[in-house]
Amino acid sequence: MAKVMILGSGFAVPDEVQDNTHLLVTQGDRTILVDTASNPILKLRRAGVAFDALTDLVLTHFHPDHVSGVPLLLMGMWLLGRKRPLDIYGLEHTIRRVQAMLDLYELLSWPNFYTVSFHVVADGEMMPVIEREDLRILASPVRHLIPTMGLRFEFIPQSKVVAYSCDTEPCEEVVRLAYRADILIHEAAGASIGHTSPQQAAEIARRAETRALYLIHYSQMNVALMKALDEARQIYPEPICLTQDFLPLDFG
Ligand SMILES: [Zn+2]
Repeated sequence: MAKVMILGSGFAVPDEVQDNTHLLVTQGDRTILVDTASNPILKLRRAGVAFDALTDLVLTHFHPDHVSGVPLLLMGMWLLGRKRPLDIYGLEHTIRRVQAMLDLYELLSWPNFYTVSFHVVADGEMMPVIEREDLRILASPVRHLIPTMGLRFEFIPQSKVVAYSCDTEPCEEVVRLAYRADILIHEAAGASIGHTSPQQAAEIARRAETRALYLIHYSQMNVALMKALDEARQIYPEPICLTQDFLPLDFG
């Protein structure tokens, strides 16, 4: 089943209803976690995903609200008896720091620890992350405070495309990454260095000619957001939705 589930829709400070932004992507026998915060074992269980079903972990950038769950995830799966290997993907900046973080725990040398393989994603636009018959994941650099990659998920048998901006200022790389996607999931933390407002996200979606825009990495507590949404809807003619935690996007 081809599916994207929003595990967290909130910005860097979570609250009772919105965890830090992270996603789960499933296609065929692959179950792929994109970023991880809080306790991933708990999040996977709530999403109805067995810990052992997880095949890949894609990390977009080394900010705490996107990678702090990695040691807990790896330790939890080991304690639950995981044997199957895990593949972790990210830019070199991210992978080196994640390896250093895991080294502090000396986690990977614990007895009978399953194999964890790291894969550095090449720096450039539309670089392959995972390429399989039924799913292609491509990455492009976006504009954030540190090296960060946005993602394009191509569900090949279903002919569906979902793009995810990750944390970024409005940038041309996302326009190209999301070109004619069925859904663009764009951050809407607000117009500031390294981030984007709902109106700016709408402009990116309009120029990318996507069929729908889902806003993420925002706070429902933000009272100005509803006004910003009204303005965004003047800019982008297709549907604009606010993501919520555990929102499923099914593609059959
Ligand atoms: Zn960030």
